[in-house]
Amino acid sequence: MNLYHDILRKIKEHDTIIIHRHMRPDPDALGSQVGLQKLLQYHFPQKTVKVTGYDEPSLTWLAQMDQVADADYEQALVIVCDTANTARIDDSRYATGAFLIKIDHHPDDDVYGDLSLVDTTASSTSEMIALLAFENQLDLGEEAARLLYAGIIGDTGRFLYPSTSVRTFEVAARLRQYPFDFSGLARKMDAITWPIARLQGYVYDSLEMDQNGAARIILSQQLLQELRLSDADTSAIVGAPGRIEDVQLWAIFVEQPDGHYRVRMRSKSIPINEIAKKHHGGGHPLASGANAFSKEEVDQIYAELQDLAKKEENQLKGLSNQI
Ligand code: AMP
Repeated sequence: MNLYHDILRKIKEHDTIIIHRHMRPDPDALGSQVGLQKLLQYHFPQKTVKVTGYDEPSLTWLAQMDQVADADYEQALVIVCDTANTARIDDSRYATGAFLIKIDHHPDDDVYGDLSLVDTTASSTSEMIALLAFENQLDLGEEAARLLYAGIIGDTGRFLYPSTSVRTFEVAARLRQYPFDFSGLARKMDAITWPIARLQGYVYDSLEMDQNGAARIILSQQLLQELRLSDADTSAIVGAPGRIEDVQLWAIFVEQPDGHYRVRMRSKSIPINEIAKKHHGGGHPLASGANAFSKEEVDQIYAELQDLAKKEENQLKGLSNQI
């Protein structure tokens, strides 16, 4: 049984296909969602294929959403890309279609959908959409290739993170055969505005780090307002602490207008997602998100991260003592 074939079979059975992805979209969410749309529009021009969700202003250059009416969902096939749990699906109408498919690469903590294809070994959902095309011998077309390439470089930090596999490079190589401006795309995704550059300066100036490489920074609403930055803009600096040699794992606490903190957690090698799960979140072993509802919870999460880094450091010391 090949789920990639089953998904294409379901697509062929429906005249209307509506594609969703997670809230606060990143390039992989948008790349997989709209990359799939372009692929299907290319091969099935007679079908109605729409994408829905909030148009993230900082990413409208990459892709934009369609207007989708409630009535469109009647008899529709709904495909949700890159979203582990139903609570994070952008546009709650996902449940009102005729058949629901989940395509994702996050740990399958919330199993949903009439058909579910979850591959945690994939670097990104964009990699999986490319495989959907390859497994079914469907030519991708230039537009889909560009979007999927953007999703892959977004979720792998341009082939930096350990999730980058041999297959990721093979898929990227096949996407690169299309004539889109891959260098311009990578440069655009790497570019930062002056306010983001200032925020990055603040992060390096104010980052707190302990002796085991656990680090944190708190970004207040006041700071974001002074720099005229939104919560979504902070995604541009999530990786910044990791560029410091000694930092092993880190959390960025972004204060929200309602006073709670959105927590963005990253790690170079020690899994941190169990901590995220304990604090209203989840995600990948090395890239997770959570929520803190008080300053005490902010400190608690940092203390848990420090504990993890300390355990790892002690284990390494124990190993080197045995040698
Ligand atoms: P972010 O720091 O927002 O880029 O999130 C990194 C990863 O953490 C995402 O790709 C999601 O897999 C996961 N994530 C973030 N926020 C949540 C949440 N509230 N619940 C579950 N997973 C989350």
